[in-house]
Amino acid sequence: MKLRVDPERCAGSGHCHREVPELFARGADGLCQAKRSALELPQVALAMGALDRCPNGAIELLDADYFDFPNVGP
Ligand code: SF4
Repeated sequence: MKLRVDPERCAGSGHCHREVPELFARGADGLCQAKRSALELPQVALAMGALDRCPNGAIELLDADYFDFPNVGP
């Protein structure tokens, strides 16, 4: 699975990086960024929890076989 934060939707509320700092960080622009793009299974569960709690629907989990996001960090 691939993890991505949509910068057009993120409002910088900080819920995700406070709750799951191993997967999310606040960028210099104040918006959230995914610290990893490719996730292992235990990380997928953490990311799904953050996705459920994001008030803006900005967190995306996508099947790596079908999508590629070259602008997301390693
Ligand atoms: S919880 Fe959602 S809106 Fe808030 S910082 Fe994270 S991605 Fe952005």
